Amino acid sequence: MSKQSLKHSWAEPYKIKMVEPIKVTTREYREKCAKEAGYNTFLLKSEDVYIDLLTDSGTNAMSDYQWAGLMMGDEAYAGSRNFYYLWDNVKKFYGLPYFVPTHQGRAAEHMISKIMIKPGDYVPGNMYFTTTRLHQELAGATFVDVIIDEAHDPRSMHPFKGNIDLKKLEDLIKKVGANKIAYVSMAGPVNMAGGQPFSMANLQDVYELTKKYKIKLWFDGTRATENAYFIKMREKGYADKTIAQILKEICSYFDGMWVSAKKDLMVNIGGFIATRNKKVFEEARNLVVVYEGLHTYGGLAGRDLEAMARGLEEMVKFENISSRIGQIEYFGKQLEKYYVPLVYPFGGHAIFLDAKQFLPHVKQDFFPAQTLSAEIYVDSGVRGMERGIVSAGRDSEGKNRYPKLELVRLTFPRRVYTQSHIDVAVESIAQVFEDRKKIKGMKMIYEPKYLRFFQARFEKIK
Ligand SMILES: *Cc1c(COP(=O)(O)O)cnc(C)c1O
Repeated sequence: MSKQSLKHSWAEPYKIKMVEPIKVTTREYREKCAKEAGYNTFLLKSEDVYIDLLTDSGTNAMSDYQWAGLMMGDEAYAGSRNFYYLWDNVKKFYGLPYFVPTHQGRAAEHMISKIMIKPGDYVPGNMYFTTTRLHQELAGATFVDVIIDEAHDPRSMHPFKGNIDLKKLEDLIKKVGANKIAYVSMAGPVNMAGGQPFSMANLQDVYELTKKYKIKLWFDGTRATENAYFIKMREKGYADKTIAQILKEICSYFDGMWVSAKKDLMVNIGGFIATRNKKVFEEARNLVVVYEGLHTYGGLAGRDLEAMARGLEEMVKFENISSRIGQIEYFGKQLEKYYVPLVYPFGGHAIFLDAKQFLPHVKQDFFPAQTLSAEIYVDSGVRGMERGIVSAGRDSEGKNRYPKLELVRLTFPRRVYTQSHIDVAVESIAQVFEDRKKIKGMKMIYEPKYLRFFQARFEKIK
C-alpha cells in the first residue's frame, strides 16, 4: 500500500460535508484593520481574515468520526469513559504506559519543567520553542541550543535539519557536568527551524549519549507524526514501515513526552504528558489537580478527550499526513516559480518566507518579518506570523536576541483549505514580492514582558 501511494498526488483523502463562510474584504478595510491591530497579525480579528495561515494549532477540521465522538462525551467529574479510551490509545500509538491529560501543550510543559528542573540546571535542546523554553527558564534552567549548524541556514538542503549536534551536546555535558542537566529536550519537526525533522539515526545517537551520562531524554512530541513521515520518505530502511511503526520506534527512545494535541491529533483543544517514568508520572498526576483539574480530565471536557482519542487513530493514517505535507510542498513549489526566498527543505506544517532575503533593505531592528506578515495581510487578507526577532524575545540580561532566521511562517491548518486557497496566497505573496522595494520597516511601540510576539504593537516608520 505504502509504495503505491507514494506515487499518488497529495489529493485530499476527504470531501466537504459542511462549509464555514469566510469574508472577502477590500484593501482599504484591511489597511484599517492592520493599523488597529498594531500591525501584529495575532491582534487581528479572525473575521477580518480571508485565509488564515497564522497557525495550525487547534485550527484543524475534525472528521465526522470525531464530531460523532463529541456526542459520546462522558462528563463525569471523575473516571470518565473517554479518559480510559484515550489512555488506551496513547499506549497503543506512542507506546508509553503512563498518561496525564492537560488542557493544552504548555500546561504539560509547565508541569514537566517544574518536576524535572532545579534552579541552576541546564536544558539542552534542538533549537527552541517559545512556550517550551519559557517554562524551562521560569523553572530556573538555562536553555542551550544544540541543534546542528545547518538548521540556522535557510538554504541548507540537509534532509534532517532538526538533528542534535552530538559534539555540542557532549561539550555542554562536560562543561557543566551531567548532574546539572535536567534533561535533553528534543522536538521534531523543529518548528522554529522551519518544520525540520530529526532522523532516527540521530535520535539513536542522542539516546546512546544520554544513556552513557545517565541523562533523561524528553520529547516534545507535538508534531511527532510529521517527523515520522519525513523519516519514512527520507531515511534509509524506513520506506516500507508504516507511520504508526515509525512513531512507536521514535517514542521508544524517550523517557517521556509532552504533547500539544492541537496539532497532530487534529482537535481544537487538548494536550498531555505520556511517560514510562513512574516517578515523574506520579508527580505530574499530583500537580495536574493543582493547575488543571482532576487527573482523569486535565482541564478538558469528556467530549474533548474523546475527539483526541479518535484523532490519534486518524493521525497515523498515511493518506492524512501525506496530503497535509503535500499541500505544503505544492505551496512552496508555486512560490518558487516567482523566486520568492524560502526556507529549505519545505517543512512539515508550514512554508517559511526568508524575510532577510525578501526585504534585504530592512534591518533586523526594524522587524522585517513582522512587517512582511502585515503587508501580506493588507494585500489579500492572508494571515501568517512572524518567526524572527520579535518571537526570539530578550535574554536574561534584557537584551534583544538576534536570531539568524528572520521568517514569516504560513502554516496550514489540517483539512481546512483547498488548492485554490493556496493559489490565492501564492498570487498575493508574489505581488508583495514584486512591490518589496516600497516596504519600509516598523518600530515597536508596546512590548509585553512574556512571549512578546503575541501582543506587541508596531507602527510604520516614515
Ligand atoms: C504548539 C506547540 C507547543 C505548545 O502547545 P500549546 O498547545 O500551544 O500550549 C509546544 N511545542 C510545540 C512544538 C508546539 O508546536
